[in-house]
Amino acid sequence: MPSRKKAMGKAKKAAKEEAAAATQAKAGTNNDHQSPTRPTLTSRGVDNVLRGIESMKPCITHGFRLELLPTMRICGVFIDAFTEAYRISLQMESNVITALNAASAVCNKPMFGPVWNDVAKMEYVMAYYVTKGVKYILDEGRDDMAHNFAVFANYFEQTIGVANKTQPEVIPAKLAELLNGDMNTLVKYFRQHIPCNCLDEKYKEVKSITKLGFCCYSECPIPNRTVERKKMLYCTQCRVANYCSRECQVAHWPDHKDGCLKYMEKKAKLPI
Ligand SMILES: [Zn+2]
Ligand SMILES: [Zn+2]
Ligand SMILES: [Zn+2]
Repeated sequence: MPSRKKAMGKAKKAAKEEAAAATQAKAGTNNDHQSPTRPTLTSRGVDNVLRGIESMKPCITHGFRLELLPTMRICGVFIDAFTEAYRISLQMESNVITALNAASAVCNKPMFGPVWNDVAKMEYVMAYYVTKGVKYILDEGRDDMAHNFAVFANYFEQTIGVANKTQPEVIPAKLAELLNGDMNTLVKYFRQHIPCNCLDEKYKEVKSITKLGFCCYSECPIPNRTVERKKMLYCTQCRVANYCSRECQVAHWPDHKDGCLKYMEKKAKLPI
């Protein structure tokens, strides 16, 4: 006759097994209606998953989905045309905003309609520029090039914002900030736009660098028009034009007035 203690132990074991089976069954019904035969994830399975993640390093595309390229071919053609038109325009004009507008005008062809009018394709274009910028920082140490790619990425990010009615128009100050800005601003921008943690180390290196802004007044007396961002003055109406000083703000007002008013009118029409 089995002892009382043994019987208790057996009963406990049986109850435990039953509970475990119930949990498994529950997990099966909750998570997988379609294929109830799917094996339950054991601790060994988790180890395999972790090993799988480990083997994905080093991250190559930083979130850019290369596998979508066959269905996004037009984006590749668009990127090529846009980048080239920008480069040519920049050589002649030396103004980034003008060059971006010129590149947009060159790419304003019927064949690129499906890109401009499809937010998913615009996001794909943006992700490409983000990835290129990250690669220039991490693989090639070409921070100068990375600034350009941040400008491209942000230009399309803002274009998407306009299409989604979350902002009235493309704001040049943000683009100028990325183009002329410090490494803290640049790395932070890219880091916020990738799903991986590839820029975490780099960001630790640069995050104490003072963030710089770019004075909107073209005749600004400060070299490179760059100034500590937190000391900048913002236009009290639009909140997007920013200046190094009261003097620049006042001097820019005759030029800014019309644009500021139009911006505010467009902004008022946006759904909040
Ligand atoms: Zn990555
Ligand atoms: Zn200034
Ligand atoms: Zn304003």
